[in-house]
Amino acid sequence: MTTDCLFCKIAVGEIPAEKLYEDGDMLAFRDVAPQAPVHFLVIPKKHIQDPANVTTDDETLIGKMMRVGSQVAKENGLTDFRLVYNNGAEAGQSVFHIHMHVLGGRSLSWPPG
Ligand code: AMP
Repeated sequence: MTTDCLFCKIAVGEIPAEKLYEDGDMLAFRDVAPQAPVHFLVIPKKHIQDPANVTTDDETLIGKMMRVGSQVAKENGLTDFRLVYNNGAEAGQSVFHIHMHVLGGRSLSWPPG
């Protein structure tokens, strides 16, 4: 845990979140500012800053994020959905604990702005 990290605090329950899934190393919770009818985040409990800081040791964990995100998407009624990782401020990252956005429930345009 990194003490000044918002998502580490959510991971240990110090800050509340609307949890959709939790196990020993992973958590999914609704985004506080949803950009689609269904919008939640999947995080590892381990602090990893961003995709660029994923190591070979993290590969299983990062793959699991996709499986869990897809499973929770289906449980929330989605068949079509988008998975997004932002890496760095210019790409839109505002919380520097790796997270995967899962968005769905409306038509999503491409490319993103
Ligand atoms: P990003 O901009 O890719 O770093 O995404 C961070 C996301 O975290 C944004 O979509 C925020 O709305 C969301 N967020 C920030 N604080 C919270 C919180 N306390 N609970 C749930 N989601 C949050």
